[in-house]
Amino acid sequence: MPRDIITFQCTECKERNYTTTKNKKTSPGRMEMKKYCPRCRQHRAHRETK
Ligand SMILES: [Zn+2]
Repeated sequence: MPRDIITFQCTECKERNYTTTKNKKTSPGRMEMKKYCPRCRQHRAHRETK
């Protein structure tokens, strides 16, 4: 079962704050989630990046 490591990037400052793994077959497309960004010092939308 291949699971790829993906990185979540703050949509405001473009800082890469989180990594996780996902199965691209079960979760196609870009994921987005609200997480705390240390650089913005507040919660921001984080988007999956390469
Ligand atoms: Zn940020």
